[in-house]
Amino acid sequence: MAIRDILLLGNPRLYERSIECKSADDVERIARDLQDTLLDFREKHGFGRAIAAPQVGERKRMIFMFINEPVVFINPVLRPVGEPDMTVWDDCMSFPGLLVRVKRYSVCKIAYYDLKWQKHHALFRDDLSELIQHEYDHLDGILVVQRAVDNRSFALESQRKWLKSKNF
Ligand SMILES: [Zn+2]
Repeated sequence: MAIRDILLLGNPRLYERSIECKSADDVERIARDLQDTLLDFREKHGFGRAIAAPQVGERKRMIFMFINEPVVFINPVLRPVGEPDMTVWDDCMSFPGLLVRVKRYSVCKIAYYDLKWQKHHALFRDDLSELIQHEYDHLDGILVVQRAVDNRSFALESQRKWLKSKNF
């Protein structure tokens, strides 16, 4: 078990593209580290449903999501469906406290391998679709700040309720 440091905004490694996992890689250890780090972060900050391997400095194409149960996505390939038709205030474990307004596809398809290298296909909608697009971007070195709808699409987390009350 290892709780890893999460790379924070400003660290240039977050902008690097991650490389495909190979069967010789210790994907089980990385998955355990991602789980420990995510659960520790969630306890401290009260948010965080998924984490990408490059956020803990592992330049591997791996995502760990824990909502009702843990799911590991190895070498995922994401295909959006339709148009980017939803606008959300997104947050990121690499910059807690900052919200960024982004446009996302409300539906996307993903193909991936699990820890036993079995292939899976899944379809995500709405907030899960948004979440997997966010994590997938991390694998390509893209942060949500680069996806901002415009140059006013930034807010502090403490403004979330106010933004909602104004329908922003
Ligand atoms: Zn993130």
